[in-house]
Amino acid sequence: MQDCIVIGSGTAGVSAALTLQANGKNFILLGQTGLSEKIAKAEKIRNYPGLLDVTGKAFCEALQAQLKAASIVVKEERAMGVYALKDKFGVATQEGGYYESRTVILACGVESVKTIEGETEFVGRGVSYCATCDGFLYKGKTVAVLCTSKRLEHEIEFLADFAAKVYLIPMYKEVEIERENIQIIRKMPVKLEGKMRVEKLVFAAPISADIGSELEIDGLFALRESVSPATLVGGLETLDGHVKVSRDMQTNIVGCYAAGDCTGRPYQYAKAVGEGNVAAHSASAFISERKKQETKD
Ligand SMILES: Cc1cc2nc3c(=O)[nH]c(=O)nc-3n(C[C@H](O)[C@H](O)[C@H](O)COP(=O)(O)OP(=O)(O)OC[C@H]3O[C@@H](n4cnc5c(N)ncnc54)[C@H](O)[C@@H]3O)c2cc1C
Repeated sequence: MQDCIVIGSGTAGVSAALTLQANGKNFILLGQTGLSEKIAKAEKIRNYPGLLDVTGKAFCEALQAQLKAASIVVKEERAMGVYALKDKFGVATQEGGYYESRTVILACGVESVKTIEGETEFVGRGVSYCATCDGFLYKGKTVAVLCTSKRLEHEIEFLADFAAKVYLIPMYKEVEIERENIQIIRKMPVKLEGKMRVEKLVFAAPISADIGSELEIDGLFALRESVSPATLVGGLETLDGHVKVSRDMQTNIVGCYAAGDCTGRPYQYAKAVGEGNVAAHSASAFISERKKQETKD
């Protein structure tokens, strides 16, 4: 069993991983080898102590080099569920991985895209966040896909293998997929409607003269880089979409910590790094206590 699983490879996750390593803990860092689009995208960073006008790309490369020097490898997997079991956590990933740990640090950032009306209510009743997990349920059916990143296009292709029709609503510019059963719609829906399950995706205005302002669908896949922490961890307390934490970055779930943008504003590197560090120290103290308990038992 791992001491910790860090979810997210942005500045908060990298900081947490470096601290866990320094504290001699074993852990898995889930995320992307490119670390975080938000780091790479920054034109110039002017507010990080010790760095003078460095580009986001250069900052990202420095973090990657630091991870490499510390022999820390990012596991390219996306956490889809965190389960608080009796004395441990289970973390399931979209890629089919399942890992257990004594603690979890949520460092998954924030997604600027808001959920649409009805999305949360229909989770498990037509709304899914993982095509490779639930796609097979939609064999021969009609689905809509909200997708925030080209990186997730392989999931849409997976869905298109099962579904009869896929309405793709991309929130990025260059769509690379071309399939007969995929229709691209460049308008944002406003809500989901249905009785027991999702039945319709409603737009504010007609999509085109022949379609109108509603799509009849059997399911909606919301494919976003970041899964909302409340969706990820059942029973997690949040406030205005951010994870509620104490000063030592502890959430309301014992052994589960959070750091970085996911805990709230200001959305800045310095805050993310500081919180990642505190979360890792708190988790380390908790792990040491837990291990003492385990040897007594
Ligand atoms: C264009 C731009 C410019 C910016 N410039 C500055 C600046 O100059 N100065 C400054 O201080 N701040 C700046 N920021 C803000 C800064 O980027 C963020 O505050 C910082 O990146 C937050 O770090 P984080 O680790 O909390 O989250 P992120 O950097 O968002 O990293 C989160 C990571 O977690 C991964 N992830 C999410 N969910 C999962 C999951 N379920 N499983 C596995 N991995 C997951 C994501 O893919 C991502 O890699 C800028 C932001 C943008 C967008």
